[in-house]
Amino acid sequence: MTDIKRIENKLKNKDNLVRDDVLFLLESSDDTFLFENADRIRKEQMGDEVHLRGLFEFSNICKRNCNYCGLRHDNKQQHRYRIKPDDVVEQALIIASYNIKTVVMQSGEDGFFTTDLLADIVRRIKKNADVAVTLSVGEKTKDEYRTLFDAGADRYLLRHETASESLYEKLHPDSLFKERIRCIEDLFDIGFQVGMGCMVGVPYQTVGDMVEDIMLLQKYQPDMIGIGPYISGSEVPFKDFQSGMIETTLKMIALARIVCPQAHIPATTAVGTIDEFGREKALRVGANVVMPNFTPQEYKIHYNIYPNKRCIDEQASKCNNCIRGMILRQGRTVGKGYGHSLKHDREKGR
Ligand code: SAH
Ligand code: SF4
Repeated sequence: MTDIKRIENKLKNKDNLVRDDVLFLLESSDDTFLFENADRIRKEQMGDEVHLRGLFEFSNICKRNCNYCGLRHDNKQQHRYRIKPDDVVEQALIIASYNIKTVVMQSGEDGFFTTDLLADIVRRIKKNADVAVTLSVGEKTKDEYRTLFDAGADRYLLRHETASESLYEKLHPDSLFKERIRCIEDLFDIGFQVGMGCMVGVPYQTVGDMVEDIMLLQKYQPDMIGIGPYISGSEVPFKDFQSGMIETTLKMIALARIVCPQAHIPATTAVGTIDEFGREKALRVGANVVMPNFTPQEYKIHYNIYPNKRCIDEQASKCNNCIRGMILRQGRTVGKGYGHSLKHDREKGR
């Protein structure tokens, strides 16, 4: 049996892929089979709706030193900001007023925002707006995660970054792969809708490492999966390496859709940054989410995880309209509900 035939049978029977299948699809010069199947599965499982998540980057202060990220603590060139708690709540309510049903609150690991303070912010948002709240604020203890969940946070994004323990530790001088996985498992255990994901083309990453990323996603079946290219250029130890490639990133998005048919998968800002039409392309190979940036303009320009971020000059309202137009031009519709995980809608009713 040819490789394609074998994989085709597995897709038909909804069987898991093994490493050789993933490697074959990643290395194949013809991506038609992969992309068509990912798009078909997206349509069958998730429909044509594209969910909007309003992204709000409320602090760019970070105690960690991830070697790839412009917000790392030791990057002294980075101008820092922290939005006042009352203004964080206010901005979340503004996002909700645009008829966006999810607010994604992201920051560096900023000690000012203690778990109790974050929990209070989440409670105030949930009390005053009809939105799902997603947090993306890094590693915490299980008790801290539980406090945030009990305050009303619905979802948590914590990319695994890379499934290779040795690569993970090369990328993160001050943290451990096992600890990242501990956090992810705690988040699942508590009942969050959990987002995992990785960078593509990060320095020292091999194709074998990418296969492991897909195997890890298949194993954990996260509710959300963020995959974007590594983007080079910030004042970081890895600044002289090249950015990840659009083609490989699209293949990884398509593979994520195939191994996690019901996950919510964004067409990330990073994919739109390395390729003018990157987000449109991602929507055609498995993605079903877009995250318009609602960080106020004066702060947004300083949230430099990587340089030359897409839509950095846009006002929030313009960004929102532009993205809605882009979705319609792809022949898709804008999601009207919260866009919760299908698993959680069924099991938890939350
Ligand atoms: N501090 C939190 C959330 C902010 S960082 C955390 O680390 O989880 C959000 C994501 O940005 C990270 O998970 C990482 O995958 C991505 N990122 C950081 N630097 C990047 C770069 N140079 N290129 C592409 N993505 C990057
Ligand atoms: Fe901080 Fe997140 Fe950047 Fe790491 S990736 S330096 S934790 S903001």
